[in-house]
Amino acid sequence: MKKIITSLSSALLIFVASLSFTTVAKSAEFFTIGTGGPTGVYFQTGNAICKMLHKSAISAEHGRKKGTAKAYRCTAPSTGGSNYNIGQIKAGEFQFGVAQSDWQYHAVNGSSKWEGKKFGDLRAVFSVHNEPFQIWARKKAKIKNFAGLEGKVVNIGNPGSGQRGTMEELMKAMGVDNSFFKSTTELTSSEQVKALCDGKIDAFGYSVGFPNGAMEQAATCAAKASPINLTGSEVQGLISGADYYAKAVIPKGTYTNQKKDATTFGVKATVVTSASVSEELVYLVTKAVMENFDDFKKQHPAFGFLEKKNMIKDGLSAPLHPGAIKYYKEAGLM
Ligand code: GLU
Repeated sequence: MKKIITSLSSALLIFVASLSFTTVAKSAEFFTIGTGGPTGVYFQTGNAICKMLHKSAISAEHGRKKGTAKAYRCTAPSTGGSNYNIGQIKAGEFQFGVAQSDWQYHAVNGSSKWEGKKFGDLRAVFSVHNEPFQIWARKKAKIKNFAGLEGKVVNIGNPGSGQRGTMEELMKAMGVDNSFFKSTTELTSSEQVKALCDGKIDAFGYSVGFPNGAMEQAATCAAKASPINLTGSEVQGLISGADYYAKAVIPKGTYTNQKKDATTFGVKATVVTSASVSEELVYLVTKAVMENFDDFKKQHPAFGFLEKKNMIKDGLSAPLHPGAIKYYKEAGLM
């Protein structure tokens, strides 16, 4: 008898468990935030956003805030970077992505790489950290400025990455093409540091937030690499010609053995979505980040300078998504 009761109750348990599983599975909505290489800051940004959202969702799912519970499940996989992310949002594959301010601008306006492929439904959510465009060179290559890259082996970045696009814009401004270098590679951001440390390349171009672990590795490995200055009239022309670029400095001492400031130009990392993503989802994502702001800022040292009032305008050229506006108005930020 006891046995029957035990097996009956375990059957009941399984039944109840599967019932609640189906309930969750039915109401849960999965969505994706496109990021960048696994060793970059975008990957951490996307995952920090998911973490904040899940943090707010826990109280709802544990019954503490009844009635708010439509469960969203967020993933932030590693990807090829800015332009890849925008392309996936356009195709409806990703709901959000992290993207450089220059590529946000070009995608929504149909310019540069986005000529003929304009994505008018691209929407901004907020901007995040600064991303100076950096050319890191190994010490023995003795590269001091852009002209010093002539005849060197240079990683221009994987297609789809923001740095690949920005490197090409810089090359255009400098009046050079790939033949200026001895050879070029198309390594991803996580492959390029190893290649530099192993002496397989002399330099790489990368737009990325600082400080970050991958650049510290480049500074401390056998390459003893450092970021070079990118200044002069051509770079000034880029900065004065576009709102999505700004002068940028990586202060000396940011990385081991970095004895001088590195002066360059840079962009902002931004979070983007599509007009076709629901107001509810964009509102919840925005709210989760803004209402857990101190915790969010602790997720990466590059977030140290973030301020809400700047995040809702700096580096944003696509219109704000209505879900984000709803939260900003409610919170008195707009
Ligand atoms: N800015 C880079 C890009 O758009 C990614 C930087 C990062 O992963 O932090 O491709």
